[in-house]
Amino acid sequence: MIKENVEKLLQELPANVQLVAAAKTRTTEEIEQAIEGGIEIVGENYVQEAERVFKIIGKRISWHFIGHLQRNKVKKAVKIFDLIETLDSKDLATEINQLSARENKTMPVLVEINSGREKQKFGVMPEEALKLIKELSELKNIKIMGLMTMGPATGEPEEARPYFKETKKIFDNIAALDLTGLEMSYLSMGMSNSYRVAIEEGANLVRIGSKIFGERQND
Ligand SMILES: *Cc1c(COP(=O)(O)O)cnc(C)c1O
Repeated sequence: MIKENVEKLLQELPANVQLVAAAKTRTTEEIEQAIEGGIEIVGENYVQEAERVFKIIGKRISWHFIGHLQRNKVKKAVKIFDLIETLDSKDLATEINQLSARENKTMPVLVEINSGREKQKFGVMPEEALKLIKELSELKNIKIMGLMTMGPATGEPEEARPYFKETKKIFDNIAALDLTGLEMSYLSMGMSNSYRVAIEEGANLVRIGSKIFGERQND
């Protein structure tokens, strides 16, 4: 079933859109089935969980970090991940920069936008994104590659549209500035229920979990 779900999604997605299999709580076997279906990027929310799966699956695929990164997990994260999608503070960026330098690596990152302006959510507020990005662009061992947003949890995919639209606008504004060290390549928006709307609004990375693996047990 998982393999077929991936195949169906890959057929549906436009050629410029990359699919990230959001794999939180899934077993290595389930992730392997998704890879058989054609998954080339796995998204993980927890470093510890990623480490366990990474040991078995390794570098056959790319790894994106899509959860909230705690500073004490950065050291492991820079070893495993090819893209950290959820950078949202100067402090975290400084830590990633330092530990990446030690690994002789430049860490690609996306800046997470709190497009719903929700107090309890992570991400930088839309109006603060540019200031943060300018600060981060001075760090030599991280490379800003675009933006990511979750948007408020909504039942109706259509309700997510304004948040995706606003994030795309920020993306375009920043890209137009042509800042040195920035390469605005990825706009990561949309999950199982909202990816079609997200793609219409300009997403080129979509993070899909339940539509690939089935509903999660505990949410
Ligand atoms: C779980 C998760 C997803 C995927 O959610 P689904 O609704 O299962 O598709 C996407 N992005 C992030 C950051 C997630 O934590």
